[in-house]
Amino acid sequence: MKTKLSLKDLDLKGKRVLMRVDFNVPLDNFGHITDDTRIAATLPSIKFALDKGASVVLMSHLGRPKGKTTALSLAPCAKRLEQLLHHKVAMAPDCIGPDVERKIKELKSGDVILLENLRFYPAEENPEADPSFAENLAKWGDCYVNDAFGTAHRAHASTVNVARYFPHASAAGFLLEKEIQFLGKTLSKPERPFYAIIGGAKISTKIEILKALIKKVDALLIGGGMAYTFLKALGYSIGDSLCEDKYLDAAKEILGEGRMYNVQILLPIDHVIADTPVNGARTRHVDNKQGIPPGFMGVDIGKLTLELFKQALQKSRTIFWNGPLGIFEQSEFAKGTEAIARMLAELNATTIVGGGDSIAALHNSGAADKVTHISTGGGAALEYVQYGRLPGIDALTNASAVTAG
Ligand code: AMP
Repeated sequence: MKTKLSLKDLDLKGKRVLMRVDFNVPLDNFGHITDDTRIAATLPSIKFALDKGASVVLMSHLGRPKGKTTALSLAPCAKRLEQLLHHKVAMAPDCIGPDVERKIKELKSGDVILLENLRFYPAEENPEADPSFAENLAKWGDCYVNDAFGTAHRAHASTVNVARYFPHASAAGFLLEKEIQFLGKTLSKPERPFYAIIGGAKISTKIEILKALIKKVDALLIGGGMAYTFLKALGYSIGDSLCEDKYLDAAKEILGEGRMYNVQILLPIDHVIADTPVNGARTRHVDNKQGIPPGFMGVDIGKLTLELFKQALQKSRTIFWNGPLGIFEQSEFAKGTEAIARMLAELNATTIVGGGDSIAALHNSGAADKVTHISTGGGAALEYVQYGRLPGIDALTNASAVTAG
């Protein structure tokens, strides 16, 4: 993997930095921001550019608008950034066009402006349909910085095409650099043993990452809803647990690859089962031999599984975790997932966690500041681990291209 130009390497004094950030924050029904983690995460890059005497033009998408709509305006993000940055942040009326141009021309060193939602224009997601969109965005900067890891797996106008206008000055922001360091470098050459814990609802959405991980890890620990497709494939009774019958063969194939690559695959050996997937349900505890009776579904890993996973994880030096091991949104079925989060925090290993649900579990169990790296991008993190590259990272200038002159 080639080392990419860093924000630190750019000549910033008196320059306008066009920075792609990820302000795609969750909103409540009234349009209020319910979690500003993504905005806060961009502060180091923005502050650095300002300290070096640049002005900063920020751009992001928010949600999935169909055309322009005030409901998905980035204006609340500008306000929140202003509070977090303790610095004035102007809101542009659009992301391209003469009104924006006027505002950008007025920018002085130390000014910050946020462009309006990029996805108000279909060309953001479909850049080849209208190449002028990326060209127009590129006019706003003397250099380009991508600090939006969450969208780096998408080849969009603001993540790939814009970078082409700055062949010697497209750099990774600090957030993106951290992701490249941990998901790219650390996981491509992990200290061994390297174990992955994969949970979540369905095998169908994680099949590619499972196949990719089999070739990289020393052991794969599988939990959550997807485990039941594997258990059914092995002939266990799974009652009414989540199961994708179409993927029974795929599950068998993965188990076979595990044997081929000599990778241990650990599945749950016992379960918390419930008659409905909500708090207050009738619950029982069963192991695989007893099986899950009809009318019940597996909702969390059991204590024997936790012990099995704990023994295994204690041997590892690097761990990647994605996906909850039970229906963790219901507090009664969150115990397994939260115990795994606490376990990771106590281990003497490099621990890397990706995916919103696993991160929420880390926060709920007070373990978030004790893991080595929390990835800010769910889909992007999985694709980066899977392929070892992402379009938004590939698009940036190679550091060697600049130092070589
Ligand atoms: P994913 O987006 O694929 O990582 O899946 C996350 C979802 O998996 C969460 O909403 C969990 O509630 C769900 N999940 C985890 N374990 C189970 C299970 N045993 N049965 C059904 N859903 C589950």
